[in-house]
Amino acid sequence: MSDVRAMYEQVILDHNKNPRNYGRMEAPDRIVDGFNPLCGDTLKVYLKFDGDTVADVKFEGHGCAISKSSASLMTTSVKGKTRAEAQALFEAFHAMLKSDHTAPVDEAALGKLRVFAGVREFPVRVKCATLPWHALASGLIHDLPEETVTTE
Ligand code: ZN
Repeated sequence: MSDVRAMYEQVILDHNKNPRNYGRMEAPDRIVDGFNPLCGDTLKVYLKFDGDTVADVKFEGHGCAISKSSASLMTTSVKGKTRAEAQALFEAFHAMLKSDHTAPVDEAALGKLRVFAGVREFPVRVKCATLPWHALASGLIHDLPEETVTTE
């Protein structure tokens, strides 16, 4: 478990300092504004589809290290996936974060995302980690050009 803890800290530091796919997207198919009032995290998730595939995904905004690193890792995890695969990842990630902090993690389904299991020990932070994923899921399901989701 100490390996996972070390990896958790390393991944969050790395993605917070060097967020992947960060910035505005030109001509996205969807924009979802995510807001976590509990922490003050606000972020925009941009999505572009090619048929059924998430062709591109970017984000920008202001948030704590956990929301930012989670958003960064979300983009690298779902880029190039089908909507169904991206939705399945959201569900696996969400289920992990809603589980007890001692519950085993589905490493096969989650891959690198499993490092966020460490967040379960800090319940107030769970919404920071899930915010970008809720924004993604909303963008996958709905057919609105722009919408807002909040964690409350
Ligand atoms: Zn936060």
